[in-house]
Amino acid sequence: MTLLDVQRLSKRFGAVSAVDNVSFDVARTEMLAIIGPNGAGKSTCFNMIGGQIEPDMGTVLFDGTDITRDTPQKLFRSGIGRTFQIAAVFQSMNVREVLQTALLSRDGRTASFLFPARRYKGEEADELAASVGLQDFLNTECRALSYGDLKRVELALALANRPRLLLMDEPTAGMAPDGRQQMMRLVRSLADKSGISVLFTEHDMDVVFNHADRILVLNKGQVLALDTPDEIRADPAVQAVYLGE
Ligand code: ADP
Ligand code: MG
Repeated sequence: MTLLDVQRLSKRFGAVSAVDNVSFDVARTEMLAIIGPNGAGKSTCFNMIGGQIEPDMGTVLFDGTDITRDTPQKLFRSGIGRTFQIAAVFQSMNVREVLQTALLSRDGRTASFLFPARRYKGEEADELAASVGLQDFLNTECRALSYGDLKRVELALALANRPRLLLMDEPTAGMAPDGRQQMMRLVRSLADKSGISVLFTEHDMDVVFNHADRILVLNKGQVLALDTPDEIRADPAVQAVYLGE
């Protein structure tokens, strides 16, 4: 049951082959981690799937549909969500208002910033907040939240659109080790509950090996390995170029 099918994706920057003929798939409800040394091509790969960078070659199929050159807006409407850092404009809004704004924009009220969001979608916003454990912070302004709770708001923002695939570039960056594990447990439970697949990059190997169903290892733009955490851990080629560094 493949949801995302990446075929022979390639991107050069001048003389640098950032991503070279990379193929992999993400199954339904699977959490797949992309790892690899600095410069391996993780972000470029991620950004090609997310529509921020146009590939030189290759195809990306989402639920059987070619989405290779779709804009981020179109991908969003197709059900590919992405976490973003909370923008400065949200800092003075409370959690409920931020989530109401996200729900408004999902429903096509593009000028959502101009409308008082106070009543609209209040109940759904509160449910969304509760789903990421923020039920006690509905009236808290974002600037007053802890870093970890802000990350939860970012996750809820991405979930507002009910994505089928969630792209997360370093979802636990800047968090303490405990918070990272907690965050990924939350992502896992939401993915299971709502049938969401998750593609993520991550530096923390404890997070990767604890929470990924499979791990894609990139090295110098190419696929070095794609397998379960146990197989990856035992793979001599992976140990040689990456884990054994
Ligand atoms: P990673 O995320 O795994 O660290 P990147 O995808 O950011 O790797 O980068 C892969 C390679 O492509 C690196 O050699 C990097 O320097 C190069 N690269 C990435 N983006 C650009 C760009 N916009 N212009 C030129 N080179 C780039
Ligand atoms: Mg990167």
